[in-house]
Amino acid sequence: MSDSTLREKFWELPLTDLNPAEWEALCDHCGRCCLKKLQDEDGGDIVWTRVICRYYDLDEGACGCYSARSQKVPDCLQVSTMNAHDVHWMPDTCAYRLRMEGKSLFDWHPLLAGSKQAMEEAGITVKDKALSEDHVHPLGYHEHVIRWVNVD
Ligand code: SF4
Ligand code: SF4
Repeated sequence: MSDSTLREKFWELPLTDLNPAEWEALCDHCGRCCLKKLQDEDGGDIVWTRVICRYYDLDEGACGCYSARSQKVPDCLQVSTMNAHDVHWMPDTCAYRLRMEGKSLFDWHPLLAGSKQAMEEAGITVKDKALSEDHVHPLGYHEHVIRWVNVD
């Protein structure tokens, strides 16, 4: 098998069995992990904001610099090296988090639904809700804290 072969229903296989192409294809490009987070100083809890990385293309609904993202944003998450420590703070709809926790993808995931339409109708993508970090001062992020709506 080639490293670029997408096997039938590969998203049901353990993450450790996926080849690089399957690993990349698992991402739904929702953009949720590109939102800015704040950490509570006392309890250490993490909250999400609707402020998003300046490189996220809000029209396309995808990273606008994917191949150069490590150079442009050094702390950008590398899903290929994500581990159990990283995954606990990922949105609970994230395909990597779901699979790392042994759960199935949601029906709206483009791999199951065949397009992004169901994901957009379910309100999973951030492209129509997010605000570029270019337009918000970092000290004002707390004014844009959000709470995920349960999608079960
Ligand atoms: S939250 Fe997960 S599925 Fe969504 S874009 Fe980020 S890595 Fe991909
Ligand atoms: S560089 Fe791309 S993938 Fe990384 S946080 Fe920014 S928009 Fe998201």
